[in-house]
Amino acid sequence: MRGARVWARLLGVERAIVDDVELEDETGSLVVRVHLQRRDRARCGRCRRVCPGYDGGEGRRRWRTLDLGTTRAWIEAAAPRVRCPEHGIIVAAVPWARHGAGHSRAFDDQVAWLAAHCSKTAIVALGRIAWRTVGAIVGRVVSDARAARDPLAGLRRIGLDDISYRRGQRYLTIVVDHDTGRLVWAGDGRAEATVEAFFDALGPERTAALAEISTDAAVWLVNPIRRRAPDAILATDPFHVVHWATEALDELRREIWNRARQSGDRSLTRAAKGVRWLLYRHATEFNPAQRDRFERLIALNAPIAEGFLLKEQLREVFAIGGPAGVALLDEWIGWAKASSSARFRVVGRRVEKHRAGIVASLLHGLSNGRVEAVNTHVRLIARIAYGFHSADALIALAMLRLGGVCPPLPGR
Ligand SMILES: [Zn+2]
Repeated sequence: MRGARVWARLLGVERAIVDDVELEDETGSLVVRVHLQRRDRARCGRCRRVCPGYDGGEGRRRWRTLDLGTTRAWIEAAAPRVRCPEHGIIVAAVPWARHGAGHSRAFDDQVAWLAAHCSKTAIVALGRIAWRTVGAIVGRVVSDARAARDPLAGLRRIGLDDISYRRGQRYLTIVVDHDTGRLVWAGDGRAEATVEAFFDALGPERTAALAEISTDAAVWLVNPIRRRAPDAILATDPFHVVHWATEALDELRREIWNRARQSGDRSLTRAAKGVRWLLYRHATEFNPAQRDRFERLIALNAPIAEGFLLKEQLREVFAIGGPAGVALLDEWIGWAKASSSARFRVVGRRVEKHRAGIVASLLHGLSNGRVEAVNTHVRLIARIAYGFHSADALIALAMLRLGGVCPPLPGR
C-alpha cells in the first residue's frame, strides 16, 4: 500500500479518493483533500438514496478528524446539494461523517467513547474541543446507535423513577430495564405527559408485552401507567413506602418537641432536656419531683416510640417479602390505622390504598434497587453535563454511559 491509499487509511477516508495532502503553515494542521468515488456521489445526506444533483452548495468544506500523531487533521471536500424526493434540497452525504456534522465519524466515536469513560477535563484537553461540542457529538452518536439497535426492544420488566437536577429546579423521568439494569429511556420533566411520551415511543405492541412495572406511588406515574399498560403488574417500590413512615416519624418528633417548648410547661420542657441525667439514676432513688418528671418524659416519648416501631415493622415487611410479608403488611395496616398519632393513621390509610402495588412488589420481588442505582448515576452525570445547557444533551450522555449504546473506539 502506498501514497494516496496510505493517507486514506491513516485519515479514515478509505472510501474516498485522496487528491493531495498538505501541512498548512498558518494553522499547523494537516489537510487531506479528497473526492468521492462514483458510487458514493449524489446521495441524500439523510436517507443516502441516490438523487439528482442540485447545486454546489457552499463550496468546499472541512471536517475535523482524528489527530495524526500530535497534529490536528482535517478532511476537505466539495459539499454539493442534491434534490431528495423525501428530504428536499439537502447537502449530499459523505461516507466519513454523519449528516450535518463538522467532525468525522471516527472523531465523533472517539469523543463519545471518551465521554463514557473519562473526565470532562480529559476529553476537552485530548480532543481540543469545547465541552458544548462534546454534548453535540454525544447527541448524534447516541441517536445513531439508537436507530441501529433500539433499546426499547424486548422489554419485559421495567422501573420508572424521577430525578431532580439543577438544585431541584429541573426533572427527568427515567425508565430502567430490570433484567439488564440498563437505562432504556429518559424524558425531560416529571408529569403524566412525560410518562405518556415514553409509552408513545414504546408503541402499543411492545407495551402489551410488558409483564411488570415498578414505580413509587406518585400519581403522575401511576395514572398513565394504569391507562396505557393495564395488563402489566404494577409494583410499588418498597423504598418509597418505607420513606412515608420515616417522614411521618420525623414530623412527629418535631411536632412533639415544638409542642413541649410552646406549651409554656417549663417542667415538661425541662423533662425533655434533662433526660440523660435522670436516666442514669435508679428508679428507686427518685424523689417525688423526679418521679413526676420521669413519668412526663415517658408520656412525651410514647408516640415517638410507637412511630419508631411502626417504621421498623414496615421495613421488616419488605425484608421478609413473599406471602409472609403480605400477612405482616395487613397486620401493619391495622396497627397504623389505630395508632395514637394522626400522622401514622394517614400513612396507614395511604399504604392500604396502595396495597395491591405493594403486594405485587412483595410477591414478585421487584424492588426499584436497580432503578435507584441508575438514578444515582444520572444525578452525577447531570452535574458533569451542566455545561451542555440542554436536557437532550444530558439525556444523551446518560444513555451513552448507562444505556449500553457506547460505540467502540475507532479501528478496534
Ligand atoms: Zn433523503
